[in-house]
Amino acid sequence: MERWQKVLSESISSLDELALFFPIDKDLLLPVVRRYPFRITRSYFSLILEQGDPIWRQCVPDPSELDQDHLSIDPLNENGCSPVPGLIHRYPDRVVLLASSVCSTQCRFCMRKNRMGGEGNAWSFGEPAMEYIEQRPSLREVILSGGDPLLLTDDELEKMLIRLRNIPHLEIIRIHTRTPVTLPERITTQLCRMLKEHHPLYVNTQFNHPREITPSSVKACLRLISAGIPLGNQTVLLKGVNDTPEVMKELMQKLLVIRVRPYYLHQMDMVKGAGHFRTSIQKGLEIMTYLRGHISGMAIPTYVIDLPGGKGKVPLFPDQVKRNGNMFYLRNDLGEIVEYPDLEE
Ligand SMILES: *Cc1c(COP(=O)(O)O)cnc(C)c1O
Ligand code: SF4
Repeated sequence: MERWQKVLSESISSLDELALFFPIDKDLLLPVVRRYPFRITRSYFSLILEQGDPIWRQCVPDPSELDQDHLSIDPLNENGCSPVPGLIHRYPDRVVLLASSVCSTQCRFCMRKNRMGGEGNAWSFGEPAMEYIEQRPSLREVILSGGDPLLLTDDELEKMLIRLRNIPHLEIIRIHTRTPVTLPERITTQLCRMLKEHHPLYVNTQFNHPREITPSSVKACLRLISAGIPLGNQTVLLKGVNDTPEVMKELMQKLLVIRVRPYYLHQMDMVKGAGHFRTSIQKGLEIMTYLRGHISGMAIPTYVIDLPGGKGKVPLFPDQVKRNGNMFYLRNDLGEIVEYPDLEE
C-alpha cells in the first residue's frame, strides 16, 4: 500500500469519528450519510476552525441535503448525453470520461452526488467508452473526471493514459482532480514522473476557499507544474463559503501567486441535495465586477452557468454593454459609461 492510500484509509468516514471532534446530532445526520457518501481526509478536516465555517460547510453532512425534492438528481441531463456507460458527450470535439466513482473527500455540493456512491465502480467507463473514442476522429480531447481520477492507482491510470495516447486523433488529455486540495499526498514524484510521459496533459483542480491554499496543497501543485503540467482551477460559487467579493479576490489572487490559473467560476447547479449552496446569479455578477476592478486579468476566471437539461455552458458577464445604432456604451469597473463607436462593415 502506498502512503497516500494509507492516509486515505485513515479518513473520517463515520459519524462516530466526527463526534470525537465536534458536538453533532448523530440522529439528525444519520439519514444524510445513509443517502449520500461521506468521507473527509484528516488533512482537509484539520482546516476546519469552527463548526459551520467555509471548510466545514464543504465537507460535513448537513440535514438540509435531504430537504430538496424540488431539485433534480441529474439537472444537466448527463445520463441523456451518455451514449455508452461512463462517457458524457455534449460538445463535438471533447468528451468526459468518468474514470472513478469515488473521491478522497466527498464535497457536499457535488453535482454528481446523487449518482456517486458506495465503493463500487457502477458508473465508471469500460471498453465501450474507449471504443467510442477510438471510432470518432472528431474527438480531440478527453477529460478524465468522476469521481476523482487520481484515486486510481498509478498503474491503472498509466494503462488508461497509454490506451488514450494510442488514439491518433486525440490531442489533449485533461484531468479534473481535487486531490491537491483534499489529498495532497496523492501527488507523488512517481505519479508526476509517469504523467509527464503523456503530454500534452493538463490538470484542473478545485480550490474554493483561500484557506485551502496550504503548504501541502502548494507543494502538490508545484510538483505537477514541475512536470510541465499547466494547472487550472475551477471554483464553485458556494453560499456561506466564498460568496463575497473579498474572499473571492483573495482566493484568485493567491492561486495566481502559486501559478494555478483561475479557469472557471461555476454557478452552482440545481442539483438535489446541494440546493442550500445556491447563490443568485446577481451575486456572481457582482463578484465578477469587483474582481475586474481589483485584480490582475490573469487571476480572473470566466463565470459560467451550466444550463439545465444538458444545454451546455454559457459564460456570464456583468451587464456592461448598451447599444444605440453604431455606438456602444460600455461600463467600466468604476461605473463610468464610455462611448465606443463600432466599425461599420
Ligand atoms: C464542462 C464540460 C466539458 C468541458 O468544457 P470546457 O469548456 O472545455 O472546459 C466537456 N464536456 C462536458 C459534458 C462538460 O460538461
Ligand atoms: S471532488 Fe468533484 S466529483 Fe468529487 S465530490 Fe468533490 S465535486 Fe464531486
